[in-house]
Amino acid sequence: MPERVVREEAEPDETDLPTLVARLEGKCGQLDADVRPEDLSALMEIVHSLIAGGLALNYPKFAELASIIEVMLRPVADGEERPTQEFSDILQDYVQALKRLADAAPAESGPARSVPDAPVVEGRQGHTVFLLVGDAEVAAELEHQAAHFGYTILRFRDLAALTGGLRRECPSAVIVDLAPGGAGLALEGAVAEVRAAAGPDLPVLVLADEGGLASRLRAARADVSALFVKPVDMHELVDGLDVATRQEPERRFHVVIVEDSRTQAKYYSAILQRAGMECAVVSDPEDLLDVLAAQPFDLILMDMYMPGCNGVELAKVVRQMPVYESIPIVFLSGETEIDRQLDAMSLGADDFLTKPISPAHLIRSVTIRAERARTLRSFMVTDNLTGLLNHSRIKEQLEIEVARTARNGSVVSFVMLDIDRFKAVNDTYGHPVGDRVIKTLARVLRQRLRTTDFIGRYGGEEFAVILPDTPPADAARVIDGIRKTFGSIRHFSHGQVFSVSFSAGIAAVPPVQDVLNLAGRADAALYAAKRAGRDRVELAEGAVRGDM
Ligand code: GH3
Ligand code: MG
Ligand code: MG
Ligand code: MG
Repeated sequence: MPERVVREEAEPDETDLPTLVARLEGKCGQLDADVRPEDLSALMEIVHSLIAGGLALNYPKFAELASIIEVMLRPVADGEERPTQEFSDILQDYVQALKRLADAAPAESGPARSVPDAPVVEGRQGHTVFLLVGDAEVAAELEHQAAHFGYTILRFRDLAALTGGLRRECPSAVIVDLAPGGAGLALEGAVAEVRAAAGPDLPVLVLADEGGLASRLRAARADVSALFVKPVDMHELVDGLDVATRQEPERRFHVVIVEDSRTQAKYYSAILQRAGMECAVVSDPEDLLDVLAAQPFDLILMDMYMPGCNGVELAKVVRQMPVYESIPIVFLSGETEIDRQLDAMSLGADDFLTKPISPAHLIRSVTIRAERARTLRSFMVTDNLTGLLNHSRIKEQLEIEVARTARNGSVVSFVMLDIDRFKAVNDTYGHPVGDRVIKTLARVLRQRLRTTDFIGRYGGEEFAVILPDTPPADAARVIDGIRKTFGSIRHFSHGQVFSVSFSAGIAAVPPVQDVLNLAGRADAALYAAKRAGRDRVELAEGAVRGDM
């Protein structure tokens, strides 16, 4: 029947996942020990279209499952294995799972969840958090604390009201007290209702009476973002909100693909780009150093065999340059001989991936290595307690900014900031409470300053801030606003409430031109602020004071 043949051979639309999966199901049903090679290649083609379709629809879960099927099928397609009954059964399970995913596919690419009829609330800043808490005092306290960090709390009286709210509007997070007003909610049930109303991605924070392993396990299984034991430490809760709602300010991963085959390079970069990475392709090894010098990269994906020079030699060259010492190098090659792989690793490669590699496997391998390299680097430049730049890093940055300012004739302000009578905080409430105060100040600084500013922990309870392109009078206004905010935050310790202030000194380039002078003048201004009674911001002499 010619008509049927024509329909079978018609080029399927990549994004029509249900039709493709139906075809796959049909082909897999015919799979037995006598399967013909041409049926197998048709089968693989469908699987490849499914992977491509999943990626095109921004549906990574689907593409990943299709990739697993591809990996399973490959030895059979290559004639290395015969399909057994057991193999067919497992394959059928995977195909059924794929079918369910196809039916649940997002209608179009982009975020699956949107709330078109969400009410617009005027004057709201930052993140909105829905709150279900029985205790009015806890709610009021949370509202107060959270407001300092850009959260707006909307309170609901019961679970039904909360889920009703979630159907109208999509907040950044939900906090659920499991015993609002004494009526206990079962964790699983409450979380399930919230998820049913808001989808799987919404961070859910839970307040519970008890924090033993059993309840934490239940929370983890219910996919709760964080569990807090009552009475709740407000600082911890706000920390939890920060973590749960953290937007990825992180730069996308930048990958260099060194590969002499343009087709392969195109294929790999397409996969990595779909996963949100930026790729540069180097097809002539001679160009690698120029490309590396042009911008920072997170990882090098290196072909093993290329005309003129091989990947191992090229990796050696890269490793000879101290600036590229920490960039991960991952070899991607058809080489399967283990000795050769180990040779490559011992010469400076971080990993070895064997071609052909499934898209999901490639994306994961690259992401894991790039992430780890970034984390290691961040340990080298940030302070453990606060996550701010450490002493040597902020000083290094000050050198860079002062030199830049001298070059382009602009202005940079430098702030030294010291918490007032901090020793008394430690002495009265203990060191851990002191640490929390330091973290709180770090958070306020991060919240209030621009992303182009640099914030460092200079030492103990001292901070340094660099504000590029900012005249000292403007810097003073900004820092004074932060001083007022920080001073109004209430800290809690064992039933006692206290507040803490800081003093700051500001100097700028110009009039001074060098780092040493700049830091000295900022320090002198800080000392003047302390002597004048603390809880104030002072400008160095010669820096013009505006209205604060
Ligand atoms: P002033 O207003 O003059 O700045 O008074 P101060 O008490 O803040 O100044 P001082 O330099 O006398 O004391 C600073 C205290 O900060 C002493 C030290 O124990 C404490 N400190 C330094 N680093 C840390 C830290 O990481 N955590 C905690 N909790 N305390 C710290
Ligand atoms: Mg090659
Ligand atoms: Mg000090
Ligand atoms: Mg101090």
